[in-house]
Amino acid sequence: MSAKPIRNVPFHRPSIGADEEREVIDTLRSGWITTGPKTKRFERDFAEYVGAKHALAVAHCTGALHLALFALGIGPGDEVITTPFTFTATAEVIGYLGARPVFVDIDPGTFNINPARIEEALERGANRNVRAIMPVHFAGQACDMDRILAIARRYDLKIVEDAAHAVGSARHLEGRGMVRIGTIGDLSCFSFYATKNITSAEGGMVTTEDDGLAARIAVASLHGMDRDAWKRYDQSGSWFYEIHDTGFKYNLSDVHSAIGVAQLKRAGEFMRRRTATARAYNEAFRSEPALQTPYVEPGVDHAWHLYVLRLRPEQLRIGRGQFVDLMRERGVGTSVHCIPLHLMDFYQKRYGYHAGDFPVAEDIYSRCVSLPIFPGMSEEDVAWTIESVLGVIRENRR
Ligand SMILES: *Cc1c(COP(=O)(O)O)cnc(C)c1O
Repeated sequence: MSAKPIRNVPFHRPSIGADEEREVIDTLRSGWITTGPKTKRFERDFAEYVGAKHALAVAHCTGALHLALFALGIGPGDEVITTPFTFTATAEVIGYLGARPVFVDIDPGTFNINPARIEEALERGANRNVRAIMPVHFAGQACDMDRILAIARRYDLKIVEDAAHAVGSARHLEGRGMVRIGTIGDLSCFSFYATKNITSAEGGMVTTEDDGLAARIAVASLHGMDRDAWKRYDQSGSWFYEIHDTGFKYNLSDVHSAIGVAQLKRAGEFMRRRTATARAYNEAFRSEPALQTPYVEPGVDHAWHLYVLRLRPEQLRIGRGQFVDLMRERGVGTSVHCIPLHLMDFYQKRYGYHAGDFPVAEDIYSRCVSLPIFPGMSEEDVAWTIESVLGVIRENRR
C-alpha cells in the first residue's frame, strides 16, 4: 500500500470537559468524597431523566444487575432467561446467586433477544424453574417490551432489563406511547463505564417503580446497613448502625457521582451526536453490497451506544478479522460486539452450552464489526472512518 495520510480515530474517547472537572473539584474540596450528597443528587437527576420513581446509584452495572436479581429473591436452582449476545456481566450475575442462565437466540435484525424463542423455551417444559427474563437493549435499541411484558405476565415472571447500552433510548409501548427505558420492567440497570453513553468513569444505576425493591436494594448495596448509614460520619449522625440483611459493597462514591451529574446534563447532546454519526454511516454504506447497515425497528429511539456493521463475506476476499486489521492500518479503531457467551469456555464447562446452539448469534458474530461512534468525533473523524471502510471494501471485493 502506498503511503497514505493517516488520521487516527480511536474506537472510543470519553467526552470529559470543564463541567465534569468543576463538579469533581467541588466534591474533592467539600470534605465528603465517598457516597453522600453528590450521589443523592445524581440519583435524583437520573430518576427525573428516565421518569422513574426510584434511582439507586451503585458501583457498576454488574453490581446493579446482581442487586436486582438479589432483591427479587433469585437463588439456587432458579433459572433466568437471557441472551447469549451480550457482555459476560449479564449472565455472570445469574451465577453469583447460584441460578442458571437459560440462553435463547436473538432476532437477526435487531440482535435483541427474540420473544418467540423465549416462548419456545417456556413452552418446551425443559426449563421449569424460570423466575425472570433479562432482556438486553443491545447497542441502545430497546427490545420488544410489549411482547416481553406479555410473556412475563402469562408465566408470572419478573423482568430485569440490562440497560447498560440504553441511557436515553425509548420505545413505543401499548397504552403508554413513547417511554424511555427505565420504567418498563420490574428493575432496569444502567452502566456508566468509560465507554458507555454517559460515564462516571465507573458506575451504575438501578431504577424501579417498586418501593419495596428500592428499599431492599438500598440496604443491600451497602453491607445491609440502613441506607443513610453514611450519615454516621456527619454531625447529625450517630455511631450506631444495624445490619438488616445480607449485603454487598456496591455503593458509588461522590467523586464518581460528580462526573455522572455533569455527564447526565449532556446526555441529550451526546445522543444527538451519536445519531448524526449513525445517519452519516447509514448514508455512506447503504448502497454498498458488501455491507449490511443496522436495522432499526419502527417505534424505537435508538441511543446508538454502538454502530454495528455487518460484512457480507460472500462479496469479499477477506473476513472480519482481516477487516479489523486493515482498518487499524488506516488508523481507525474498531471492535466486535459481542462474542456470544455460549461460545466461551466458562459457559460451556459450567452450563453445558455448545457451538451451534444459537445460530443467529453465531452468524452475526462471524461478520460484525463496531465502528467508532463517540460524541466527541469530529466531522473529519467520521469522514475518515467512512473513507477507510469503503477503501478496505473496494480493495478486497471478490
Ligand atoms: C458494560 C456492560 C455491562 C456491565 O457494566 P459495568 O458498569 O462495567 O459493570 C453489563 N451489560 C452489558 C450489556 C454491558 O455492555
